[in-house]
Amino acid sequence: MSCAPCRCSGELRTAILSVAKEAGACAAGFARVEPVEPRYVEAYRRWIERGMNGGMEYLDRYHEVRENPALLLEGARSMLCVAFPYRNGSMPRHPLFADYALGNDYHEVLRHALEPVARIMRESVDGSETRICIDTAPIRERYWAAKAGLGFIGLNNQLIIPGIGSAVFLAEILWTVDVTPSSSRIEESCIMCGRCVKSCPSGALQKDGTLDARRCLSYLTIEHRGELPEELSLVGRRIYGCDVCRDVCPYNSSNEMPVREEFKPSEELMKLTVADICRMEQPDFSRIFRHSAVKRAKLAGLLRNAEAAKQDS
Ligand code: SF4
Ligand code: SF4
Repeated sequence: MSCAPCRCSGELRTAILSVAKEAGACAAGFARVEPVEPRYVEAYRRWIERGMNGGMEYLDRYHEVRENPALLLEGARSMLCVAFPYRNGSMPRHPLFADYALGNDYHEVLRHALEPVARIMRESVDGSETRICIDTAPIRERYWAAKAGLGFIGLNNQLIIPGIGSAVFLAEILWTVDVTPSSSRIEESCIMCGRCVKSCPSGALQKDGTLDARRCLSYLTIEHRGELPEELSLVGRRIYGCDVCRDVCPYNSSNEMPVREEFKPSEELMKLTVADICRMEQPDFSRIFRHSAVKRAKLAGLLRNAEAAKQDS
């Protein structure tokens, strides 16, 4: 395929979106690369000023880039936003681990899936450049996914795709080619039923949708180093992550999308109990979680969480 960018931008968009779907994306769309709207910039800055990012200091760096994705790739004009499902209603669940962590690490899987898509994009327009971002660059993934028409952001802060829900991984491919953006935001939006706020076991999700990471079990069990805050250490018996504000959302009731094999749980992980984890040593940790996102918590973090869960049982 060889296209001149300004002559057949609509056809080019359709062709690339179909390549992304063939790679396993359940939703895909193009957004124009431009600065983030000021009201979203201000809301994010206020959130940081209130210290709600907890120990995630990287969220307080590279603001200029986060506010203008053009700085991520010289000459970037458009952005392909994609969503890959990691769970459907037929898949087993583990009571201690968030669903997204049951399969292989999505950073690796999606890079592998998206490299051929990026190559086809470059080959489609001679001399063009791409950059793949999978949670690895300061970019507001949910914001851009909504801009690209994939879905809307719910009160639970998640990107919700109508008919699919929010059990998806997001990624982007920046491109130096000007592609007509996908049709603007979808009409549907969060019904504001408040279930996510009411069900949050630690009070991290506030009524207005503000998420205080310092109380969020997902942050505390994965990102937080050191002791767990005393009043929260036993909440929910979570070992890795938390799916509550996603699970209770009515938009997540019926997803039967095909899921890539790599995201399906390994048998060994599915059998783990709190007691198994409490006596786990480094060789077993390294083997069981070799391809898993759970590596991020390190053995020390997992042991800390398992000890807290043990005391709660
Ligand atoms: S992930 Fe869990 S703890 Fe965090 S906001 Fe959602 S329900 Fe609350
Ligand atoms: S649970 Fe209700 S309020 Fe929360 S994101 Fe879903 S639809 Fe919106």
